[in-house]
Amino acid sequence: MIKTEIITVNPKAIDQTALARAATILRQGGLVAFPTETVYGLGADIYNRDSVKKIFTVKGRPGDNPLIVHIYHWEQMTELAREVPETAKVLAQQFWPGPLTMILPKKEEIPAEVSAGLPTVAIRLPAHPVAEELLRQTGLPVAAPSANTSGRPSPTRSSHVIADLDGKIELIIDAGPTGVGIESTVLDVTGPKLRILRPGGVTREMLEAVFGPEMVEAPPQINCARPLAPGMKYRHYAPQAPLRLLTGESDPVRRFLERTAVQARSAGKQLGIIAYEEDQSPVFVSTGVTFLSLGQRANPTEGAERLFHLLRLCDQAGVDEIYAVAPPRWGVGEAVFNRLHKAAGGKVEEIK
Ligand code: AMP
Ligand code: MG
Repeated sequence: MIKTEIITVNPKAIDQTALARAATILRQGGLVAFPTETVYGLGADIYNRDSVKKIFTVKGRPGDNPLIVHIYHWEQMTELAREVPETAKVLAQQFWPGPLTMILPKKEEIPAEVSAGLPTVAIRLPAHPVAEELLRQTGLPVAAPSANTSGRPSPTRSSHVIADLDGKIELIIDAGPTGVGIESTVLDVTGPKLRILRPGGVTREMLEAVFGPEMVEAPPQINCARPLAPGMKYRHYAPQAPLRLLTGESDPVRRFLERTAVQARSAGKQLGIIAYEEDQSPVFVSTGVTFLSLGQRANPTEGAERLFHLLRLCDQAGVDEIYAVAPPRWGVGEAVFNRLHKAAGGKVEEIK
């Protein structure tokens, strides 16, 4: 155990001195959890192999799951990537700072621990004033996966980071809830087409609007035998209770959930239901059911912002089983679906 310091920084009135100290900790090899617009990240100096290894240890992260390198200026891409194709420059112009991670061929100098031995490197320029200022003051590229225990829901509040990493890292910067709430889109930029390896805040529609549909490949994320991004083969984002993901028309899904709630109550079980406002039913307003709202179905960004918090609330409520209603498969709803699908262990159930 080490003593973890926790500081609060207001993103609208940044305390430069506090971030200068955080930057010093990073440069001296310490680990710092910091807010980004997607989720909280756990940062280390990419050139300090011991610090990078510590990230894997404190998270319990498998060594073959590479890290995303965070930068504050797009020109740092040339320090990290062997070549920066024109497409990558257009992507940077259009979507950085923002929730987009680009996969590019890596330079020799980047330690193998960062890229988990792959010949490529993942790069992102986050759009959060605290992250940007911390990275600027550190002056180094910072390797940062999500600041949670591996396999648990990603952290969108500092309380989530504290729950997982208190006593294991030097510093946690609290700046309130993150905005997007789902991790960045991971985009492979090494081939002739753009391949979405992980859906996220920059949606397929946004990429297609710039490059045209024929340039964007979104391979099926479901049931693929070979994982697209190395991290995809692990059970992820999982709450403690088993989670079942349901698709289907809203009426049969609601009736199924009502029956399940009644059965659970008579069996003395606690049920967690993650669904949209429109799915609410008087049957759920009862002991034994915790109804957690993803907001309006028509606005998937709301669900993205809340999802990981709701999964952690299920743990806190000590529910025995969780049922989640599948989000719409457009916009950031695709990313919400992807995370729920992984939390469900890669299964979807169709209710008729
Ligand atoms: P996390 O930071 O916890 O959101 O995880 C980073 C994600 O980026 C994981 O899904 C990794 O597999 C993916 N990633 C990082 N580097 C690469 C790379 N070089 N090629 C493909 N995917 C990568
Ligand atoms: Mg993660």
